[in-house]
Amino acid sequence: MRRFASAIALALVFGACANGSSKDASPTTRRSTTTKAAPSTTASTTTTLAAPPAPNGCDASSLKRVEPRRDRTKYTIDATLDLAANQVRGSLRALFTPDKATDRIVMRLWPNGPTTAAGGGRMDLGDATLDGRPVALSLVNATTAVAATGPIPATTAQRFAVNFVVTLPRDVDERLSRVGTTVRLGSWLPLLPWEPGAGWTLDPPTTSNAEASTSIHADFDVHLVTPPGLTVLASGTDRGDRTWSASAVPDWAASIGDFTVARGLAGTVPVVVGVDKTLNDSAAMYLSAVTPALTELARRYGAYPWPAYTLAITPKLKGGIEYPGHVMQGPGTNSRTLSHEIAHQWFYALVGSDQGRDPWIDEGLASWAEAQVETTYRSFLAKPIPAGGAGRMGEAMPYWDQRHGAYYRSVYVQPVHALGALGVSTAAVDCALARFVAANAYRVAVPSSVVDALKTVAPNAEAVIARFGGQRLRAAP
Ligand SMILES: [Zn+2]
Repeated sequence: MRRFASAIALALVFGACANGSSKDASPTTRRSTTTKAAPSTTASTTTTLAAPPAPNGCDASSLKRVEPRRDRTKYTIDATLDLAANQVRGSLRALFTPDKATDRIVMRLWPNGPTTAAGGGRMDLGDATLDGRPVALSLVNATTAVAATGPIPATTAQRFAVNFVVTLPRDVDERLSRVGTTVRLGSWLPLLPWEPGAGWTLDPPTTSNAEASTSIHADFDVHLVTPPGLTVLASGTDRGDRTWSASAVPDWAASIGDFTVARGLAGTVPVVVGVDKTLNDSAAMYLSAVTPALTELARRYGAYPWPAYTLAITPKLKGGIEYPGHVMQGPGTNSRTLSHEIAHQWFYALVGSDQGRDPWIDEGLASWAEAQVETTYRSFLAKPIPAGGAGRMGEAMPYWDQRHGAYYRSVYVQPVHALGALGVSTAAVDCALARFVAANAYRVAVPSSVVDALKTVAPNAEAVIARFGGQRLRAAP
């Protein structure tokens, strides 16, 4: 494939990095993993979603969820993982229907983000076309490219296509990484960050982990050719023949490696856990923790939204990284990390948010859910919030780039304090969050979306959230 102009081929290198807004820190507690699983590599666990209703009478399963937008982008991706070349080469085609007029198409190039670039990773773009006509590309910054298309009218479907080459960073603690023949493919596609009602989302790159900072729901059909003998765990439905489909999801990710696999069910949801064979972790032990956590979270916040849940445990990764229907975790994370990442299936994957602009929404609500499932709510409340973060949970990532040490307590823990300060029961808060999920599913929520839901159980919600710094209460676009 022809490389794009050197401006795009040259990945800019950013400064030092810390945990980004959706890569979660290492666990502080662990479930027992001292008992190795039975020699069998396949386990089967069945749990039920028919749990009793929450004590306040709020039945999350009875809440009607809004439908995905019908004009969401439809992606078709053909890609090949070439380990010898240390690359993924492919094409992305997008059937894109903007809800208002524009004059360009924007792509995010997260492999050029700081931590992946520092490890040798990068994304190069090749030829691009709009409805078959070649279009010129230029680079706004390392992680943002623009195709100069000329006027695109509103509500008219456009066929955009672009070729890309991802060079894999090696041994980095990131969502995009290669360790031996094991590969994490996260935030690796040149997706179009069009937010209905708002237009192109051009958050500045952060010095923290680069990621798809806005979760915009789209359909994905992916054909991914991988070396023989390796297992692929990914988002969506595995249709066989190296193809996957995922509907109304904000991204598509995969982990590829030589895995020990355990399979089970959480209610009717198939769960697949793969543990890299270079690790001592037990796939069956992870599976036995995933199924009850997934079932419990579905009881609180409504049905699990995707056709399956896949979890890959791979080396050189601390904590976990969530994608819709697929989670990446490092070794030794059969812990609070596990329930936290499952909670992100509701808070990030189902209800999207701009993780660069409003990191407290998905991280704060996932932390709340984690605290309920792990029964660690009291310990969350006991954690002090550091100076510089107290009262500022609504700050965007550029603010936290300058305050890495305060980030976790301020953005993950502080929203739990805020919800606790509403003065209602935890069951009532859960009820409000179930309503938040139902009302904002498949959409990009903003702080006022959270407040509106909380007001259904706590009339003082706006003042309380403002007191903790979620005061940037923008209306939904
Ligand atoms: Zn998180």
